[in-house]
Amino acid sequence: ANGATVPVLVIGTGYGGSVAALRLAQAGINVEMVEMGLDWSTLPPMTGVGEGNVFCRSSQPGARAYWLRTKSKAPVSNFFSFPIDSEISKFTGILDAEEFAGITVYQGRGVGGGSLVNGGMAVTPKRERFASILPSVNADEMYNTYYPRANANLGVGNIRQAWFDTAECYQYSRVGRKHAQRSGFNWTFVPDVYDWNYMEAEQAGTVKRSALDTQVLYGNDAGKKSLPKTYIAQALATGKVNISTLHRVTNITTATGGYRVTIEEINTSGDVVATKNVTAGKVFCAAGSVGTSKLLVKMKATGQLPNLNGEVGKGWGDNGNVMVARANHLWDPTGKLQSTIPCSGIDNWEAGGAFAEVTPLPVGIETYASMYLAVTNTQYRAQFTWNASTGKVDLSWQTAWKQDSINKAKTIFDKINQKEGTIYRTDLFGGSKQWQDGLTYHPLGGVVIDKATDNYGRVAGYTGLYAIDASLLPNGISCNPFVTITALAERNIEKIIATDL
Ligand code: FAD
Repeated sequence: ANGATVPVLVIGTGYGGSVAALRLAQAGINVEMVEMGLDWSTLPPMTGVGEGNVFCRSSQPGARAYWLRTKSKAPVSNFFSFPIDSEISKFTGILDAEEFAGITVYQGRGVGGGSLVNGGMAVTPKRERFASILPSVNADEMYNTYYPRANANLGVGNIRQAWFDTAECYQYSRVGRKHAQRSGFNWTFVPDVYDWNYMEAEQAGTVKRSALDTQVLYGNDAGKKSLPKTYIAQALATGKVNISTLHRVTNITTATGGYRVTIEEINTSGDVVATKNVTAGKVFCAAGSVGTSKLLVKMKATGQLPNLNGEVGKGWGDNGNVMVARANHLWDPTGKLQSTIPCSGIDNWEAGGAFAEVTPLPVGIETYASMYLAVTNTQYRAQFTWNASTGKVDLSWQTAWKQDSINKAKTIFDKINQKEGTIYRTDLFGGSKQWQDGLTYHPLGGVVIDKATDNYGRVAGYTGLYAIDASLLPNGISCNPFVTITALAERNIEKIIATDL
């Protein structure tokens, strides 16, 4: 409520925020969480399109699919060159396609953050790569304690390999494996937080289908162990955590007893209906790489937190994301039933700087397409800056930088195409583009550990102000990020509870 004083305020309910809330609550501290999106567990099933589901199918985005847009903006924008985006009504939906000058950054909105919309791929980076990922963090502690803790609490599991070899819905992955291995690449299974027993039951037809009913990007009605089923459920069960939804933090400044935080309450059309001020003893920024960076850049530039250092807003990267599809021969169908949850990848990181997930194109008909999302080892980093004339934060990303990621991904796919006698699809991303190079799913950095903060996320210049999300991660992390975000948050919050509270 307006004027309230709270011991701890956590901004955002994604991975970093959920870990912080759970551990603080277990330490006996009352935690107030602020989330700009909805609590999706309170929404009734839809009527009409998507009847009976809470969440939209990826093939049928409606109002609930997008954060305050009037037209969908799907990562695969065309099919057989035909544009597939459609008009939708403006609503505080689940997927934000946030547009900066050079790049669209996709993020989840609502209680659970990115866990609501992501593929659930739960990858722990190879240990020998860790020193280049987080050079200032003790690898022994991470691999002995915090990665196992994160994996256990997130509910990470593996596909049953014997089932994988015959399941109709993973034919596309088996084709991906065959092509990768014939070209001499290292193909690996990828763990996931989807309930694999439930997945098998979906294929068998004994339960309601979700992953096998094209659900993923706009939410998932069953099967996926997103944060509201794991960390957030545990945090709420302590009785010490409260979450205010449709509340968006706009300002943080110092005040007697800690920080004064300004929060706008919005309605489901995005209009501001109330503005509140809260005093918090400690503030944890967990609004995601973009959200946390935008907030702190604005606070420094507008003089509300003038002691933030010059690293705030710097070191932002896209984890080198590019998407591509190959057109297979007619004797290599990928299957008309495809699970939205990827389970495998091609690892050419050491030799070519690319790790590519074999991803589905779940449109309900045979497409003969093999799709991939590549994470690449690009060195390009952008900076967030305050634009006083627009009152917004800009990002200095350059579209041309993606060519480096494309080149790295081509170390895999040019070779496979040559071996298989196949070509890239040009009908999926608009124009005759072969590569989806205009987006990222993996925003990282902006408030980088040991630069804008100390080695545990304590923001430089201010006592009791922390960053505890993807904004801390300094570099291309060689795989999907949420396990590392979670493990680093577990490490940092343990230290902070022991020494600062
Ligand atoms: P987030 O999870 O982004 O949470 C931040 C939260 O803060 C959000 O709920 C947001 O609404 C809220 N917020 C933001 N600003 C404010 C504000 N001012 N006031 C109040 N609340 C605010 N990663 C993987 O590891 N594996 C995958 O398979 C994978 N697939 C992905 C697929 C898609 C389509 C997307 C978009 C992402 C995917 N990711 C994947 C990335 C992963 O989801 C993110 O890296 C992760 O969610 C980031 O965690 P976080 O804690 O930093 O913040």
